[in-house]
Amino acid sequence: HRVELSEIQHILTTASAPAAGELAVPLVGEYFSKAGGSAANTTRGLAGFGIRTQLLGCRGFDEWGAFWASSMKRAHVGVERMAVKQGPTARSCILSCGGQRTMRTCMAGCPRLEPQELQAEDFEGAAWAFLSAYCLYVPGLLERAIELARGAGACVALELASFEVVRAFSESIKSLLESGAVDVAFCNEDEAVELAGGSPEQGLDYMAQHCRRLAVVTLGEKGCMIKETGADDVVAMPACAGVKAVDTTGAGDLFAAGFLFGLLNGMDRCGEIGCMAGGAVVQTLGAEMGREQWSWLHQRMHGE
Ligand code: ADP
Repeated sequence: HRVELSEIQHILTTASAPAAGELAVPLVGEYFSKAGGSAANTTRGLAGFGIRTQLLGCRGFDEWGAFWASSMKRAHVGVERMAVKQGPTARSCILSCGGQRTMRTCMAGCPRLEPQELQAEDFEGAAWAFLSAYCLYVPGLLERAIELARGAGACVALELASFEVVRAFSESIKSLLESGAVDVAFCNEDEAVELAGGSPEQGLDYMAQHCRRLAVVTLGEKGCMIKETGADDVVAMPACAGVKAVDTTGAGDLFAAGFLFGLLNGMDRCGEIGCMAGGAVVQTLGAEMGREQWSWLHQRMHGE
């Protein structure tokens, strides 16, 4: 179960970045629209691993919202509990040139989920609630989601969303972690640095100290670091070898999906599967893995 906003990504690939005011014709490249949002990406990843999922959050009552929902349904993600409200669905424009990405997101006028709209039934039967720190933009939403998830007996995983979110809400994030309500926390290198004001290792230490189970910091092509609560050692996991990265959109989101899949199955290969899933998604444009990336991932997982 996840709580966050839906988003449509319009992705355009070009050979070179245009200068301001340049009208690049003829256009050589690809254009496509994808259903995204970091919550949606992780949930779609979990569904791809065969996990039953339910997305919580809100989308706009517009054509992009309908596109988003049908795309999620096709990926076997549960969207029945999403709120649908008047207003636009969030949209991002992404220009991808030679592996470099430029992105701007428009959320103007997008409807949002209010804390009191989340109900105990939303979390009924959930083993895990995977929550994004983006929720902190709506006062009280993350706190309510955690309270309801815990009330339903679900474990709580928290991902720190972005370093801007960590910067804006560091006090709230710290008090949530310190309250002992989070089982597992995920973040990337920048977020870890922002959280503890030092090195990524310090961020990892801080999170592991307060989480019930463990904390993870992903390090892009350097892999990840995992620390279990109460342990002295940090487990360093290298990224997958033989990966030719095309576009790193969704790497952290798919890492989280792989890691949680491992955790849900009681496997001790969580970090390894996380790195494999992160390594798989960077081989394609956008955050949705196709058949080729899934088959690469399955081969890696089964040692073929
Ligand atoms: P985020 O997208 O949140 O910034 P990272 O960039 O840290 O997350 O990437 C998440 C995971 O994806 C990494 O731990 C790594 O396993 C994998 N990954 C990311 N970039 C690469 C790459 N260039 N080559 C191989 N694996 C990668």
